[in-house]
Amino acid sequence: MKPQLLIACDFDGTITRQDTLVEILNRYGSPTWTSVQDKVVSGEVSIREGLKSEMGSVRASRAEIERLLEERVQLDPTFPGFLRQMRERGVPVVLVTGGFDLCIQTVMAQAGLWPVPYLANRLIPKEETWQVDFPYPSNTCTACGHCKGDPVRNWRAQGYTTVFAGNGVTDRCAAMAASLTFAKDELETWCRREAVPAVRFGNFDDIQKELRRREWL
Ligand SMILES: [Mg+2]
Ligand SMILES: [Zn+2]
Repeated sequence: MKPQLLIACDFDGTITRQDTLVEILNRYGSPTWTSVQDKVVSGEVSIREGLKSEMGSVRASRAEIERLLEERVQLDPTFPGFLRQMRERGVPVVLVTGGFDLCIQTVMAQAGLWPVPYLANRLIPKEETWQVDFPYPSNTCTACGHCKGDPVRNWRAQGYTTVFAGNGVTDRCAAMAASLTFAKDELETWCRREAVPAVRFGNFDDIQKELRRREWL
């Protein structure tokens, strides 16, 4: 019998070629946003505080952000076909991002793939700038702004064989929690260093191939 699969995917850099947050901050954020980001990477500033401060420096309307993302952000060309196949087979695909609802919605709508189930932080317009809301607090993890480990554990507890694909720092908790992890970029390096089991992937054709090889599809 095939397992009951659920695919959880990181968004920025995993499904997209560019990082939506980087695009927004480069165009509309404070010129010093990278120094905040350096402190987040070094652990001096938490991911939550970093995101609040970075987005709080953004001076752009919703329409401006949407236009920027539509112009600048491209999907991995293998993702739409993957999503279609999974939908046909009744395998749920959930996007799990440490970024923002507005970014997922804009990019996926532009590609004709909206709506999709997702978990994301919220961007709320406030006067001239943007406030950040974290709707998924974690009891177990204080490192992440939006810990992806919790939902992955919940899906497994519901009986899903949970496949996770990611590429970055905020994907580590999910990588440790998933039934099977696909990793690229920084996440792949980290998994190798920390001996967290993960299959290296380049695009979603690789993932589909590996799932077939395991006879999970
Ligand atoms: Mg990412
Ligand atoms: Zn976490």
